[in-house]
Amino acid sequence: MLIAVNTVVSFDYTLTGPAGEVIDTSKGREPLQYLHGAGNIIPGLESQMLGKQAGDVFVASVSAEEAYGEHRADMVQVFPRSAFPAEAQINVGTQFQAQTEQGQSMTCRVVAVEGEQITVDANHPLAGVPLKFDVTIVSVRDATPEELDHGHVHGPGGHQH
Ligand code: ZN
Repeated sequence: MLIAVNTVVSFDYTLTGPAGEVIDTSKGREPLQYLHGAGNIIPGLESQMLGKQAGDVFVASVSAEEAYGEHRADMVQVFPRSAFPAEAQINVGTQFQAQTEQGQSMTCRVVAVEGEQITVDANHPLAGVPLKFDVTIVSVRDATPEELDHGHVHGPGGHQH
């Protein structure tokens, strides 16, 4: 069976960054499963899965734009120390949740601390990073009507509900 919209794909992968560093891998874990066409995985990888089948091994190079997006300078902001709770530990690398004006929760990271000036980056940590996936397709099956209704995979490796 070929990967197409409304199939459930199980695959092994190793994700590396531009310097060849391993960012994530399914080695030693269960393969990752997703519902093709539902936007469960990053668009640049999903588009390269189309038409593959079980047993296929390939490398998917994905531009930053097609992965976690370009790094946006307007999502990096400087705040005074007084904008944070007095008891909070603020160091480079500290992560915290913030609310957007639309009420969505986003993860922000402290990227610089200069005196009373705290620089916060709300970009995804992989924004602006081109990615390479070494992919092995493990299996392809039709999605169940319930999975299509929910927009995600059920059962082992998927949602358990
Ligand atoms: Zn569900």
